Amino acid sequence: MNTEMLIGSQFETGTGDGEAILNPRTGETILTLPEASPDQVQKAVTAAEKAFVTWARTTPAERSTFLLEIADRIDAEAAGFAALEALNCGKPINAVSEDELPAIADCFRFFAAAIRTMQGSIAGEYTPGYTSMIRRDPIGVVASIAPWNYPLMMMAWKLAPAIAGGNTIVFKPSEQTPLTALKLARILAEVLPEGVVNILLGRGATVGNTMISHPAVRMVSLTGNVATGTKVLQAAAPTLKRTHLELGGKAPVIVFDDADIGAVVEGLRSFGYYNAGQDCTAACRVYADDKVYERLVADLTSQVSQISYNKADDTENEIGPLISQRQRDRVSEFVERAKALSHIEVTTGGNTVGGNGFYFEPTIVAGALQDDEIVRKEVFGPVVSVTRFSDVDEAVAWANDSDYGLASSVWTKDVGRAMETAARLQYGATWVNTHFLTVNEMPHGGMKQSGYGKDMSHYALEDYTAIRHVMIAH
Ligand code: NAD
Repeated sequence: MNTEMLIGSQFETGTGDGEAILNPRTGETILTLPEASPDQVQKAVTAAEKAFVTWARTTPAERSTFLLEIADRIDAEAAGFAALEALNCGKPINAVSEDELPAIADCFRFFAAAIRTMQGSIAGEYTPGYTSMIRRDPIGVVASIAPWNYPLMMMAWKLAPAIAGGNTIVFKPSEQTPLTALKLARILAEVLPEGVVNILLGRGATVGNTMISHPAVRMVSLTGNVATGTKVLQAAAPTLKRTHLELGGKAPVIVFDDADIGAVVEGLRSFGYYNAGQDCTAACRVYADDKVYERLVADLTSQVSQISYNKADDTENEIGPLISQRQRDRVSEFVERAKALSHIEVTTGGNTVGGNGFYFEPTIVAGALQDDEIVRKEVFGPVVSVTRFSDVDEAVAWANDSDYGLASSVWTKDVGRAMETAARLQYGATWVNTHFLTVNEMPHGGMKQSGYGKDMSHYALEDYTAIRHVMIAH
């Protein structure tokens, strides 16, 4: 297991405070890793700045070749990556190896292709005697900061478009889940020229903040919660850095009376509880038409009570534990406050699971009302609320009445109703008769307080490049 950070072409141990890296299934410490010192942050930014001079001038075809090689190397070591991610996050091994790893390698392959096909506006004479053209050029050193829920996938979403676009990077994984980033560091050091990607360990308030405040950093990319997004914006403000924010979510799921309830229930069992609900797009806020509410709650309760977790044979597990004791306590407190309301019925789950691992029972909070905290706040755990609605306007108004704007879904057999409702929702993504699925060709990103950066797709390449005007006198 690699435990060293990557700075330029050197592997170094942090010289700052140590952070215990835990196994969430057992609560045991896997190892303790020291964070980067301010000097080491400085060295990493300097290495990225130096690398930018030549990296920014490479051709798309050259950068594409590097990205393809990274993808191949990830595929070749997929089993090792999956095992480390499962260890550090508690994810079921099959979920990481079958769902995450192929999508991660594909992300590098998508950007390897996309950078070679970028299109621009036409050049022309907009004043006689002068030709104008538009360029899209790299921005410079990007400080990139990732969360703990999909450590390697979020790293891929950030690294691939940024380096495809000709930028160089100082990347910081979450202090709780650095192990796969450190493994990828070894591959990146072998494949990429020195300094193109640098990887630092540490907490947000120390290392993250020092990265953002550095005057040579030109752009900051964060995936994290809304409160962190606010702090990152404040730290970026004095030097007016470009920011790319992917923040939290609280996805509404509108179930109309003509929906295929079997498909809804099956969908919610997966998309509401996948990754133990620690997913910014989790289908966690269900609005069900009065006419199907009772059946939906009954069938969903029966399905969710069968979700398997904490089994000795990991291949049988559908979900894992929460990432930390703190996260489990947070989830438990949300559920306890909901239980205290007389109109709420917890139809399954609702409790922490005994033992040292950070497990919480898959939970349904039925009878929830629009103003309840459980409907309004991101819980980030295996908890789905269900609320009744009586007409489409009420459902759409409640769905939109949220600080978040990342993901949503609509379930109905009526195509017209699906399209009309999708058009009215203020969310970065709306699925019809499904939820949660992402593809590297399509953008992922929010509206409102869920942020404004786009990951994946050619829109991410646009986010990581600057539009420039070049005018030539004849
Ligand atoms: P977090 O905000 O606590 O941490 C995210 C990262 O920011 C970590 O690396 C952390 O060290 C760093 N950080 C924290 N404070 C900082 C500061 N002051 N300056 C600089 N960096 C700082 O988030 P988390 O708990 O790791 O992840 C869960 C959150 O991420 C949830 O809200 C989830 O919805 C969100 N998320 C969003 C998306 C998306 O695509 N929109 C994807 C995954 C997760």
